[in-house]
Amino acid sequence: MKALSGLLAIGLASLFLFSPPAAQADKTLIIGTASSAGVYHVTGRTLCRLLDLPCTAQTSDGSAANLQAVRQGEVTVALAQSDLQYYAVSGTEGFRDAGPDASLRSLFSVHGEPFTLVVRRDSGIEAFDDLRQRAVNVGNPGSGQRATMMTLLEAKGWTLGEFSLANDLPADQQSLELCHGNVDAMVYTVGHPNASIEQAIRLCDAAIIDVSGEAVERLVEEAPYFTRATIPAGIYAPDQPAVDTFGVRATLVASEATPPEVIHTIVAAVFDDLEHFKSYHPAYGDLTAASMITEGLSAPLHPGALRYYRERGWIEAEDAMEDAAVDDAVEDAG
Ligand code: GLU
Repeated sequence: MKALSGLLAIGLASLFLFSPPAAQADKTLIIGTASSAGVYHVTGRTLCRLLDLPCTAQTSDGSAANLQAVRQGEVTVALAQSDLQYYAVSGTEGFRDAGPDASLRSLFSVHGEPFTLVVRRDSGIEAFDDLRQRAVNVGNPGSGQRATMMTLLEAKGWTLGEFSLANDLPADQQSLELCHGNVDAMVYTVGHPNASIEQAIRLCDAAIIDVSGEAVERLVEEAPYFTRATIPAGIYAPDQPAVDTFGVRATLVASEATPPEVIHTIVAAVFDDLEHFKSYHPAYGDLTAASMITEGLSAPLHPGALRYYRERGWIEAEDAMEDAAVDDAVEDAG
């Protein structure tokens, strides 16, 4: 009896924890996305559409801001790049001051996000190293592209001072800035095809170019969350060649305080009919359940997600991968 009332108390407490104060009254599920120009916002809106619940896809500054919002209980779930998920769990890179987030949980990963360098064709920039002394939009603070750019610069031994101008406009404004000639290049860690990149290429004679070289090789070799990535030929224009770069995966994360039943409902909405989910954006084209529940996840799986994967027989009941993953992440971080 005592145990039962204890359980009940925990259940009630978690119900209150699930919603941020602003959403407490109407229990609206809030999904943190990024700028309206990206695939995260499409993903958030798709999830809301598939869920039979009050739900809002909320734009934000991006991955780093989302991880902070999850930690502070301001959103129910959020999208975040796999590199930043790793840094949040281990309290490294941009999360050094905040420290390791032991309450962060993962649900699944979504599409791949190549680190994309877009340049004005008339700028003469043909490789990443040509960005020296040029005007570059490096992304707004809080965004994933800003964080990935800083990691690449650090690997190269560069700082923002290497550029003649380092602009920090958000993704939904940078294409226009490139079009107006105020910057020569911009970076975006995003799924393809992406509408704002398409706009830059079509309206402003921009091009996407390779991001390669020794520093990129090292990042891919050393970091579990970075992989080689190719943007396929011809997806933006008939003459657009395949572009080689490196990339991460988009992932969906939540706090351990979000009740398992809420997470179970979200996960079921995606995986009960994965082909239907995939029909909402071409960036989801290659997704399989097997890769989505294993790749890019440094935080332990949320118990609500784990329950669903076990029900489907995708993860063995005794599988301890959720503990192993976080141990690895923390260990690697030293
Ligand atoms: N990867 C980007 C970021 O964190 C967002 C990309 C998108 O909106 O699809 O911040």
